[in-house]
Amino acid sequence: MNPVIALVGRPNVGKSTLFNRLTRSRDALVANYSGLTRDRQYGEGRLGERDYIVIDTGGISGNEEGIDAAMAQQSLQAIEEADAVLFLVDARVGLTAADEMIGQHLRTRNKPTFLIVNKIDGIDDDVAKSEFYQLGIAETVGIAAAHGRNVRGMINQVMELFPRPETETSLFESEEALLTDGLDIPTGEGSIELAEQSTSAKSQLESEHGTKVAIVGRPNVGKSTLVNRLLGEERVVVYDHAGTTRDSVYIPFERNEQRYTLIDTAGVRRRGRVAESIEKFSVVKTLQAIRDANVVILVLDARTGLVEQDLHLLGFVIETGRALVIAVNKWDGLEQRVKQDIKDELEYRLGFANFARIHFISALHGSGVGNLYESVNEAYKAATTRWSSNRLTRLLEDAVAEHQPPLVNGHRIKLRYAHLGGLNPPLVVIHGNQTAAVPQTYQRYLENTFRRELKIVGSPIQIEFRTGE
Ligand code: GDP
Ligand code: GDP
Repeated sequence: MNPVIALVGRPNVGKSTLFNRLTRSRDALVANYSGLTRDRQYGEGRLGERDYIVIDTGGISGNEEGIDAAMAQQSLQAIEEADAVLFLVDARVGLTAADEMIGQHLRTRNKPTFLIVNKIDGIDDDVAKSEFYQLGIAETVGIAAAHGRNVRGMINQVMELFPRPETETSLFESEEALLTDGLDIPTGEGSIELAEQSTSAKSQLESEHGTKVAIVGRPNVGKSTLVNRLLGEERVVVYDHAGTTRDSVYIPFERNEQRYTLIDTAGVRRRGRVAESIEKFSVVKTLQAIRDANVVILVLDARTGLVEQDLHLLGFVIETGRALVIAVNKWDGLEQRVKQDIKDELEYRLGFANFARIHFISALHGSGVGNLYESVNEAYKAATTRWSSNRLTRLLEDAVAEHQPPLVNGHRIKLRYAHLGGLNPPLVVIHGNQTAAVPQTYQRYLENTFRRELKIVGSPIQIEFRTGE
């Protein structure tokens, strides 16, 4: 699980500036999106080796009466959701009453907290920090968010709290050895079959959890009802992944001799009664579940139609490259005309997710629910099949023969061979000359060709070009 870092502090201390820097770090912008809720922004970032989630909260001005009002609800929630809190103060303004209120509240929480003294550009770091010692927060770091000064050092210090667990390797990383055919292209039909249906590869893919399926969606779309439906009378042993209210419930089960683990963000079968100190719906929980899943079932509500929050969630699923099945729920009792309107709207607005199957279901009555498994299986297979270099290279050659890449400065772009560079989502790495000049349209043409020929449904495909060799 990626650590979650919350930025809190009164307005104007530099939270948004730091948020932008942390989510658009020079190393990599893994994903960035905002506006899932009105008050909090969520972004993902990476500095160094580790990915993290950052929550930017609105300001806490200190003009409100009492700590509860002052620590606006959304800031409180962000703190609850976070693994670490960065409490920002302004070196130029110095200690304020609002800072003290926030500090007081943070001392009552048992969260690792760092006091971040921002805007130290052009002033003495130690002098700037000394004024804030009375807040009683041991870890104090001076930064200049606007200039990037010490931001990397600061985040490294924070991330030291979260050593990367041994087990946290991706589906692909753990199997890299199986893909050593990357560069020497095998010849002959036999090797294609071997590479694609290698039983050792298959057994490795089926980890102890089977296919991990996350059920996600905004509040009230019917996630809990669907989870109960999917499990039916199944006697399941539920375990909380890490045991906090922020974490999803993981439910392993078998169906038709196939293993799955449902990642239940709605917390339907949470064991015992855990005090829900945070809202039932949590963005962080949802993001973590999507990241951890092989296949996401995104639940939409036919009664409300598509809303912005649905699109944000969908955008995140796509950015993470997860396999996807869309379930339009509450399809019961709708007039034919309304159904058609909804279908039209989805077709119009979900074009960017057109690789995913759409199911119209009623979790309440059970209609259409069973069919979801077929699409989940199909999507999982599409996302995790190990295409051989041989097969991919031939497809590339055919595609190029059919439709040549354009000329660049009088020279034709040459695409020579392809290999699989990753799974879930499948990453097709294409080697050639002048690949940086391959136009978007041609890339899309290749992507569509691979998708069609490999019959990839339910998963995005990524294409990466490499020049040389
Ligand atoms: P927020 O309200 O806490 O999100 O604060 P913002 O990120 O919007 O920043 C408030 C103001 O402080 C803006 O004018 C920023 O340009 C400025 N600011 C942010 N970081 C720094 C910094 O490191 N040094 C200086 N001098 N100004 C900064
Ligand atoms: P969650 O917040 O996403 O977990 O949503 P719930 O499963 O708690 O469902 C929210 C409300 O929608 C409840 O009142 C459900 O009974 C209702 N609901 C769920 N699925 C359906 C459905 O397929 N049809 C109809 N008509 N109502 C449903």
